[in-house]
Amino acid sequence: MVINSPRGTADIFGDDIICRNLIIEQAKKLFKLFNYSQIITPAFEHTEVFDRGIGQSTDIVKKEMYTFLDRKGRSLTLRPEGTAPVVRAIIEHKLYSKIPVKLFYIGNMFRYERPQKGRMREFWQLGVEAAGVDNPVIDAEVIWLLALIFETLGFKKLKLLVNSVGCADCRPPYINIFKGYIKPHLESLCSDCRERYDTNPLRIFDCKVPSCAKIISSSPKIYSNICSSCAKHFNTVTDLLKALNIPFVIKEELVRGFDYYTRTIFEIISEDLESVQNALGGGGRYDKLIEQFGGPPLPSIGFAVGIDRTIVLMKQLSVSLSKEDSQSNVFVILLERRFEKYGLEFLNYLRKCDIRSDISFEIKKVGAQIKLAKKNEFTHAAVIGEDEATSGNITVKKLADFTQNQFNWKKDPHKIYDILK
Ligand SMILES: [Zn+2]
Ligand SMILES: [Zn+2]
Repeated sequence: MVINSPRGTADIFGDDIICRNLIIEQAKKLFKLFNYSQIITPAFEHTEVFDRGIGQSTDIVKKEMYTFLDRKGRSLTLRPEGTAPVVRAIIEHKLYSKIPVKLFYIGNMFRYERPQKGRMREFWQLGVEAAGVDNPVIDAEVIWLLALIFETLGFKKLKLLVNSVGCADCRPPYINIFKGYIKPHLESLCSDCRERYDTNPLRIFDCKVPSCAKIISSSPKIYSNICSSCAKHFNTVTDLLKALNIPFVIKEELVRGFDYYTRTIFEIISEDLESVQNALGGGGRYDKLIEQFGGPPLPSIGFAVGIDRTIVLMKQLSVSLSKEDSQSNVFVILLERRFEKYGLEFLNYLRKCDIRSDISFEIKKVGAQIKLAKKNEFTHAAVIGEDEATSGNITVKKLADFTQNQFNWKKDPHKIYDILK
């Protein structure tokens, strides 16, 4: 019987793991520069955290959560996103004694969706949350950080979309205007959108069905219906982005799938990816969420980046992978079994020199071992036989052209760096 990994999950190895580590490494460097510290929250939470945090009318809560009862009958849910758990942790540990609270996370998330390239049921995200600041400067800073993550990875055809979804004062009246516009078209909408009309009308903006998109295109947009203080906030954000030389586009149809967003929302897309699945990351402001959770009033903002989709794009664009793999490395070949102890000593020396190295575990003909070394992407090989073990003079062969250099590793241990150059 062959057992496969469950649908929508993946083993991550080979090039994918190199890409993934590079993404995480670069992002962590930036998080440090921007003064964020890391938080790790559990992979599952009380279901209530997401019911309250994400909103019961969202697709995520209604259809996509992995919710189960534990052995004591408690309802738990594998996290479908990172913000609600971080908010729960901020309140639980009163992390708001220092404002702003700047946290980043890296973790696996779970949503029961139809799997496709770059969208899995278990997927990985990294993200930040900055809590306690109302000032639009932090909006600009958070967006700047998101853009930098992809810029550092060498992505070129990026587009940053921004919009404002208003606040508790201006959104409800807008929703009435919007519903008034949609009502006569209700019969022409898809069944999902007809349902959204009652539960979460703004989500109609996300519908990819052409007939819905056509109706939406001439609808009044929230952007033109926000109150003056939301407009002032948003104008400051865009002014600051201009000052930072960050190109952006105001996209009035942008809404994003969470109920908790207020004011600034943003998304970064790659024009190298297919349009349905082109969002690499995004986020927004959530000024009331922490209060709704029972915490103090802490206006906040954050974003999340889809690591899996970023890997897809890195591979598609052949973004150059980690440097360490292009560095020289040595495969140690033994001519006979009795040199194993000596071989391990030599291996220990190489590894202490920070040189990636390995040893042959089978004693075969030198030619066969050289083939094995090449297959495993070693750049150099060192053969150990009677003479080498007695004298300490080791010959290192460069596998690309078979040039060779001899050195005495005990007497002249630093010479290996010259040889591998
Ligand atoms: Zn407003
Ligand atoms: Zn629709």
